[in-house]
Amino acid sequence: MNGNELLRQIPKMDELLRLPLLTGTSFSSAELLRAARAELALLREELTGGTALPSSQELAARVLVRARESSVMGLRHVINATGIILHTNLGRAPLCADALAAVREAAQSYSTLEYDPKLGARGSRGTHIEALLCELTGAPAAMAVNNNAAAILLALATLARGDEIVVSRGELVEIGDSFRVPDIMEQSGGRLVEVGATNKTHLRDYEAAIGASTAVLLKVHTSNYRIVGFSGDVPLAQLCTLGKQRGLPVVYDLGSGALLAGHAYPFTGEPTVPQALLDGADLVTFSGDKLLGGPQAGILLGSAACIASMKRNPLARALRLDKLSLAALEATLRLYRDPQRAMQQIPALRMLTAGSTELLQKAQNLRSQIEALGARCGLEVLAQSMQAGGGAVPVQGLPSAAVAVLPQGCSVAKLERALRLAQTPVIARIAEGRLLLDVSTIAPEELTVVAREVAQAL
Ligand SMILES: *Cc1c(COP(=O)(O)O)cnc(C)c1O
Repeated sequence: MNGNELLRQIPKMDELLRLPLLTGTSFSSAELLRAARAELALLREELTGGTALPSSQELAARVLVRARESSVMGLRHVINATGIILHTNLGRAPLCADALAAVREAAQSYSTLEYDPKLGARGSRGTHIEALLCELTGAPAAMAVNNNAAAILLALATLARGDEIVVSRGELVEIGDSFRVPDIMEQSGGRLVEVGATNKTHLRDYEAAIGASTAVLLKVHTSNYRIVGFSGDVPLAQLCTLGKQRGLPVVYDLGSGALLAGHAYPFTGEPTVPQALLDGADLVTFSGDKLLGGPQAGILLGSAACIASMKRNPLARALRLDKLSLAALEATLRLYRDPQRAMQQIPALRMLTAGSTELLQKAQNLRSQIEALGARCGLEVLAQSMQAGGGAVPVQGLPSAAVAVLPQGCSVAKLERALRLAQTPVIARIAEGRLLLDVSTIAPEELTVVAREVAQAL
């Protein structure tokens, strides 16, 4: 049979859709039609490429699989068993209950987004969170935009367009997925003037680089790596003194760190927002998800004059936060008014502060559940050291615990893949020939699901 004859043998659309396999489903006729069209188009290609014609039954089964696949949400729940708390690819921070409620309320009805009921007139969309940010950090003025990259872009475009931005060579960080902070900075229209060496920058390096067209001194918190050994940077406070002497604003890209300098906070040694302001930074920027455990957002804190000029920049409109993120951000910030409550209720903070005993117990629990389901594998509970992730807190080594699974009857790679493709995908990693399920990032109510998916995969 030549190609054309083969193509003529493909079942007609209406014949295909009348097959019993496709008539009693819960899919709408539009969904089935779309899936059938796509499968028939694919089949034509396959036949032209020399593949044998499948039976009508097989074809109908393929249509059903496609309809099923396209009916699930692309953006959906996965279980994070990586131990990386602020995992950028997995959405960074799960929101706290208050934030979820606030998002729902703002989403399902009209809101006070830009309306002040007391005045009966237009209000500013930022007021609700700006007051909170100032209250919590001691900043004179505040503003929130889409993310920290947007915050940096807005800051530099406002303060340094057409001029020079002096920054240490050791602080030009890549955040992941080949996103480099310097590339964003250059989009501002400012020119980066790199000073110092990769491992060491001195105050005199900044001094020597300042010229007539210098507009900003920039410092970046190298939040996702450390240069150790023969290294040194200029502390923020010193850079701020230099900025004041020369009449230049100092912008500090904190990225992540800590909002409060509280005793309960686990990241001892991480820079805090209030300290950065006390050190004299004219502008501090950071991520709402990395630093607060809230929604994606970029926070700008600084002098009233600085923030006011950024608000006047037309870019601010393009980079502004949407109402859902604003709602989540306000609810999250409100929790920080009581640090103890923030620790208990913000999932990322709760994970970061879980003790090793609690985590080992959780791992034991997961192990027992997998065992109880009779999964064919070796199981061992391991003490681990976890990562905050998202380019945050690189060398903290907080305690964690994992269940190591050694499958019998299939390869560890196959198990890892099966879990990724499960109905609720479980994202785990392979280490030394075993699958590691880190429990620090698994919610208690997810443990049963993980156990079930592991048993099913095996
Ligand atoms: C994460 C990070 C950024 C980018 O922040 P986003 O909120 O992801 O846009 C910029 N600078 C530093 C230092 C960071 O850690």
